[in-house]
Amino acid sequence: MMYDVKGNLKQVLGNLPQGVRLVAISKYHPNEYIEAAYEEGQRIFGESHEQELRLKHETLPNDIQWHFIGHLQTNKVKYIAPYVTMIEAVDSLKLLKEIDKQAAKCERVIDVLLELHIAEEETKYGLTPDACRQLLADGEWRLLSHVRICGLMMMASYVEDMEQIRSEFRQAKTLFYELKDAYFADKDYFCERSWGMSHDYPLAIEEDSTMVRVGTTIFGPRVY
Ligand SMILES: *Cc1c(COP(=O)(O)O)cnc(C)c1O
Repeated sequence: MMYDVKGNLKQVLGNLPQGVRLVAISKYHPNEYIEAAYEEGQRIFGESHEQELRLKHETLPNDIQWHFIGHLQTNKVKYIAPYVTMIEAVDSLKLLKEIDKQAAKCERVIDVLLELHIAEEETKYGLTPDACRQLLADGEWRLLSHVRICGLMMMASYVEDMEQIRSEFRQAKTLFYELKDAYFADKDYFCERSWGMSHDYPLAIEEDSTMVRVGTTIFGPRVY
């Protein structure tokens, strides 16, 4: 029995204020689930594995905007560079440079977000706030003309404590505005704050998210 994708999607969309977009996280879910959401008008989907994304990109409508949300190895960039809409989890200058190189080959400019690590969990990827400041202060990114840094992405700790989650979103928000002022004040495209998942997206919205990444609430539990 198929999960009520359409009903769940409508419910989530109904909770989003103007200015907040939904990235429907479809990793590990079959095409028919994505098609159901697509029929309801959803166009932005997020995937975290290159091969799975490639298969879906090849078989699903080509006006879908694919966001790559997982940890991306540099040797995989070339496979998604021709078609990906946004790479959300850039956590090193090395990766940023490889995206720039592959985007140039495709004669594209690829939108990216810098992934912050604020959560307490040790295993998560991402730049600490200081590493993020360092990357931008270093300045080499300015030479990369085929990537556009559009904002920040982060995952809060997976905990029950809502105040902790809120505090992590707030740190991300504060850093966003600091970096906006320092490096992107005149760049309208630096405007994205990608935070909020199934269990915490209402809180993320209260803390200025512009892009929530919701999977389970729409598509049900993932079968790995
Ligand atoms: C899987 C994933 C999500 C979606 O998580 P849900 O709890 O299913 O909503 C969001 N962001 C990232 C980076 C993910 O890997």
